[in-house]
Amino acid sequence: MHPASPDPARTRPLARRAREAFSAWVSEEPAGRVFAQVLIRRVEPDETPSGPTGGGYELRHADDVDRLPRELNTYEDPRQAREIAKLTETGEYRPLKSAPNLRRGWLLRLADEEGLSAAMGYLYPAAVVHWYLERAGELQITSYRENAARQTGIYQRIQSLSDAGVKRAARACCEDSVCLKRTLWDVDEHVPLDMDRGGGEIPCPEPCSVFVSFARRVRAFEREEERDLADSTDLTASERGDLAALVEAASTGDVRLAREAEFEEPLNERRMRYRSQTLTPKLQPPGDEGDGE
Ligand code: SF4
Repeated sequence: MHPASPDPARTRPLARRAREAFSAWVSEEPAGRVFAQVLIRRVEPDETPSGPTGGGYELRHADDVDRLPRELNTYEDPRQAREIAKLTETGEYRPLKSAPNLRRGWLLRLADEEGLSAAMGYLYPAAVVHWYLERAGELQITSYRENAARQTGIYQRIQSLSDAGVKRAARACCEDSVCLKRTLWDVDEHVPLDMDRGGGEIPCPEPCSVFVSFARRVRAFEREEERDLADSTDLTASERGDLAALVEAASTGDVRLAREAEFEEPLNERRMRYRSQTLTPKLQPPGDEGDGE
């Protein structure tokens, strides 16, 4: 009996298989595919009297679908995608490339599959490989507890975050309004997350570094509550501080949110999303509590 011969498709390097599958998926749809915030379209070579010219792939922000090429800044080097992905429209650094704050106004014309793959790697690091592995049924999922068990140093304390704290942190940090990946991981194999996991093309198989950093902040809030309030439902010092900062900012008519990963700042969007789950129920009149789990 002969040993089974290896599937030739599986012997090719993973990155190449992912690249080929992705460009085939894009090419299947003449109007193009939307991947997170990017519209990717296959462009067929122009048949001119002098022969075929052009062709390849064209990428732009999905919200720029109706803009003419001359209205956009056009680039042909896939490395330009790194610059496009770096800063928001208002010039702030983007620590999380899957956050829905990709700037607009650009057009990437890429000659081939390699160029497409390189540009996607800058716009959404590792996303095409994860996309491919999920479709192939090979994507490994790592739960929060497994990830936390590997943390050391200042992040080791996230191992103590409660199950309810992990769920709240995920609702605050991972839903579509703040991250376009589809959250596939759970607290552990027995405790699922309790959130809208999103419907985008990019799977998220494991808590990312931004989430781990946020979980550390949420654990600090939990410790503050355990240490200072015991059985009371009063506000913690940091909750009071956040409320004061919010009122102060609103009184000027100019509520500016802190940068995306500055979780120590009161007016950070994810921190506020967490507070809306824990602080808002405390502020409601008796008999009108929300489910602040
Ligand atoms: S862990 Fe959450 S924030 Fe991080 S990439 Fe996944 S879904 Fe997005």
